[in-house]
Amino acid sequence: TLDLAFFQRFLDRATRVIVAESARLTELDAAIGDADHGANLKRGFTSAADALAADPPATPGALLTAVGAHLTNTVGGASGPLYGTVLRRMGKILGEDPVVEPAVLGRALAAAVASVRRLGDSAPGDKTMVDALQPAADAYAEALGEGDAAAALEAAARAARAGAEATIPLRARRGRASYLGERSIGHQDPGATSSALLVTALHEATD
Ligand code: ADP
Ligand code: MG
Ligand code: MG
Repeated sequence: TLDLAFFQRFLDRATRVIVAESARLTELDAAIGDADHGANLKRGFTSAADALAADPPATPGALLTAVGAHLTNTVGGASGPLYGTVLRRMGKILGEDPVVEPAVLGRALAAAVASVRRLGDSAPGDKTMVDALQPAADAYAEALGEGDAAAALEAAARAARAGAEATIPLRARRGRASYLGERSIGHQDPGATSSALLVTALHEATD
């Protein structure tokens, strides 16, 4: 059931995995950026988790909206406003329903990816978080036709991880990595990597 407890589990798992993988994310960003992606997200998620523990939201939509606002304010860099947009857009679409219909989660994922693409002027193949998020939203929609939300989230998480790995041979066309031109080739994009971790946390929150 995609209720408040599910989204709280997502936030807990997301925070835990971002903290655990923070050094690796920063290392990936050191290769093609400015070596702060893991630290940026660790600061944002731990601070969001603390703020929400102190002031618990009443609905799934309120939870995602609050986390998104918090990420925009605390993460900084390019990824802060982009992840902030993802979560606020999803929160807005979930509205005030206490339990989210699986199809509504699919609409929220699709709309969130569209918002990132608009804000970042980015598309699949640019070597950004969109390379993990777009396949995840697409896989969710496709798998939901045949199964339940847990199966669709499993497909989404698998697609996000494959999308992140598929950024390795790409040449970056957006963000700091694009300044490197050809030299961005051969490295996995940090934002696509963190996106795959976050979609995986969403799947793992189902059990
Ligand atoms: P900064 O590059 O400002 O230091 P971070 O290191 O936190 O910010 O995040 C970098 C990640 O943000 C990149 O790996 C990429 O996935 C993502 N990103 C950067 N610019 C864009 C963009 N225009 N559209 C989508 N994603 C982007
Ligand atoms: Mg950076
Ligand atoms: Mg930076």
